[in-house]
Amino acid sequence: MSKVVPVGSGPRIERVGVNVHACPLPEPESDGTLTWDSVTAVVVTLEAAGQTGTGWTYSSPAAATVIEHHLASIARDHGAFATSAGWQAMHRAGRNFGAGGLWMQALSAVDIAWWDLKARLLNTSVVELAGQVRTEVPFYGSGGFTSLDDRQLQEQVGSWAAVGATAMKIKIGENWGTDVARDLARVRRLAELAGPGVTLMVDANGGYRHGQALRVGRALDDLGVEWFEEPVTSDDPAELALLREQLSCDVTAGEYAAELDDVRALLPAVDCLQLDVTRCGGFTGFLRAAALAQSQHLDVSGHCAPALHSVIGAAVPNLRHVEYFIDHVRVESRLIDGVPSVGGGVLRPDPARPGHGMTVRSSAGGFIRPGQG
Ligand SMILES: [Mg+2]
Repeated sequence: MSKVVPVGSGPRIERVGVNVHACPLPEPESDGTLTWDSVTAVVVTLEAAGQTGTGWTYSSPAAATVIEHHLASIARDHGAFATSAGWQAMHRAGRNFGAGGLWMQALSAVDIAWWDLKARLLNTSVVELAGQVRTEVPFYGSGGFTSLDDRQLQEQVGSWAAVGATAMKIKIGENWGTDVARDLARVRRLAELAGPGVTLMVDANGGYRHGQALRVGRALDDLGVEWFEEPVTSDDPAELALLREQLSCDVTAGEYAAELDDVRALLPAVDCLQLDVTRCGGFTGFLRAAALAQSQHLDVSGHCAPALHSVIGAAVPNLRHVEYFIDHVRVESRLIDGVPSVGGGVLRPDPARPGHGMTVRSSAGGFIRPGQG
């Protein structure tokens, strides 16, 4: 690849700020293969010519260290319009450390802030800058953790119905696939609570073994489930592809994809590619990965981070929906000003607002920087 030279790079980025907001949950939550007790947002601000761009990723506080040690100086070496050149430079700087995973999550936050800054300086919105294709972005309700009791599940389903969700997803694969009877009972309960006309979706987070995933998938087909996410680990695209051939429901994966190579490996294995804008390289990475999926006539679905996906999703022709993930809905409502409006089963980013339209609330209560108690 030839050397990338910033063209029309705009005013120089003067300042890079990083903050970590750790939000403890009222009680621990579990999916099929992991338990967590807090949500951490790593927030980046980039400043140039009197404007500030904001980006964030849901990651480890260590992503802030990657930004402070490696990415901030690269951003300050570039102009505010040089989103692609900056992206390439940040990606190349990660070669010796592994440019996927944590590095890419840090890069994603910076890229999102960079796009926000660029749009604000140009007095336009990210949606318009990226090329708007829709005004309303469909979402599905998501949460339904294996750790919930029936009353808690009922409350979550009620909260999704209240904003018009026409599709809802719960976690299955409890304890690495060791309680299939409860998994299926909870799916039947979701169907009852959601009522007719709601698309049923499940996510096993890679909790089942080969063979077991097929047996569970056949039961899900019988229950009318349309979306079976990560029936086995997404590190095994060949097995996902096999399941895709054998089941009626859509087999989906992609939330851990960081590089385009990760996306390329998954394309033959899924019916819908999931992408996480906070993990796959920000708005820049999301647009590239979605185009790659489009080359195989596949839809993409935004994983978690609903506010950010509603913005970029409005510019992606092959977007199916974004995930209205309950943990992040809560965090974004407390941390972020300007979150797109929600109702009638859609999110509505406002192209009249500059940038992506969001800023971090100065009085973000309940959030602490580690070490500040
Ligand atoms: Mg998932």
